[in-house]
Order: sequence, then C-alpha cells, then structure tokens
Amino acid sequence: MPHTIHEGGCQCGAIRYQVTGRHLTAALCHCLICRKANAAPAVAWVMYKEDQVRFLHERPTEYSSSLEGRRGFCPRCGTQISFVSGLMPGLIDLTICSLDTPNDIAPDVHAFESRRLSWLHLADQLPRYPEYPPFETS
Ligand SMILES: [Zn+2]
Ligand SMILES: [Zn+2]
Repeated sequence: MPHTIHEGGCQCGAIRYQVTGRHLTAALCHCLICRKANAAPAVAWVMYKEDQVRFLHERPTEYSSSLEGRRGFCPRCGTQISFVSGLMPGLIDLTICSLDTPNDIAPDVHAFESRRLSWLHLADQLPRYPEYPPFETS
C-alpha cells in the first residue's frame, strides 16, 4: 500500500502531522533516554524517511537529548512526537502513540532490551536486541 496515509499529533492538537507510505521499521525502545523523556516504561517508535513526514502547522520544539539525538515535542502540552539523530541522516522516528490510529503500526523488535525494566514483562515473540536493532533504509 504505497499511498497509505497516517495522521497524528500531540494531545492538545497544536502539532499535527501526516505520513505517507510504508514505514521502514518500528521498535519498542527500552533505553534510558526514551524512558526518561516520556516518563514511560518503554516507548514505541516508527521510522520513516524525512520526506514521508509532513508537519501540518507548527513543527515540534526540539531538545538535544544526547550528542547526536534531538527529540521533538509539543511546547504547549508536552507530548513527545519525534526523534532524529545525526547517526541516521534523512530518517525520523515518530512515537507510535502520537498516531491517531496507533493500532495500525505494531513494533517489529525490542530495542535496548539490555535496559528493559526488570518489572516490565511483555509476552510477545518479537526479536530482542541489546541495543540498536539493525534496519534497512531502502
Ligand atoms: Zn500539544
Ligand atoms: Zn530509546
């Protein structure tokens, strides 16, 4: 379905986006920075090429959460929206739970399984990677 369109945005609606086409990969991330930034036990991300993603009004405000990484969020309501990294030029991750229909995209893998909280038990059979999972960009 090359022309699939998904929409999403923050809780207050100031930030809205539209994504076109198939995503590259999706991962449930257990890393420390994702957990802290979202104040959540794990964060589900879906990766697109930047030109597949269009912000309809404002762009997310960005915060440099690490040397290479920038996290985008709504400055009004605080919803975490996006992640870009100098280590993955041209690519953007969106939080699956900022999609209007988050059931449409399920994670393929667990990332940073080595950091998973000891009390978080997920009974899926997805591959688990200690840190970054491998992914194809083409
Ligand atoms: Zn907002
Ligand atoms: Zn992470």
